[in-house]
Amino acid sequence: MAQVTLGKFFSGVPQKRKSDGDSKKIYEHKRKRGFIDSWSKNFDGLQDSSDGMICINCKKFPNIAGPSSFISGNKSYRIDGIRSHFSSPKHLQCSEAYFAAQRRDNGRSN
Ligand SMILES: [Zn+2]
Repeated sequence: MAQVTLGKFFSGVPQKRKSDGDSKKIYEHKRKRGFIDSWSKNFDGLQDSSDGMICINCKKFPNIAGPSSFISGNKSYRIDGIRSHFSSPKHLQCSEAYFAAQRRDNGRSN
């Protein structure tokens, strides 16, 4: 097999770096905060509002959820914040209560 010496390998790497002014601008643009539509599909109950992201499951049961930024509106628009809310025990309790209430309502209307 061909032998590649480290010296040869490193000499092939371009050492010049462009000023990062432009690339930083692009980076900031991509990171523009806002609600992503797929989030409401991936996270059942998540909605956007003028106050920020809200979780309608928890909003319906504030006594179970307790104080939460996803009831008053969460403006971080960060996926890790959403993930941690949607895996929190209080959110899961609210979701259960919400689905139980929906089942009750459906039963009543029949
Ligand atoms: Zn929730």
